[in-house]
Amino acid sequence: MISYICLECRENEEIPLDVVRTMDAMDDGDSMVPPQFSCEKCGGTMYPEYYKGLHGNEYKITDVLDE
Ligand SMILES: [Zn+2]
Repeated sequence: MISYICLECRENEEIPLDVVRTMDAMDDGDSMVPPQFSCEKCGGTMYPEYYKGLHGNEYKITDVLDE
């Protein structure tokens, strides 16, 4: 499971890895952006706490959040 965190309300959601991988595989566009989901609570963008993409790109929540 990949932990996704809402950039707006900090809601945490666990997304199954195969779902994220499928999204990643379908996204042939901007590899700078990880597969993203919408927050069920506020509709905000959810970003992975840590995810290494199919093409070796690494995404971390700390890249976009300043705690
Ligand atoms: Zn939210």
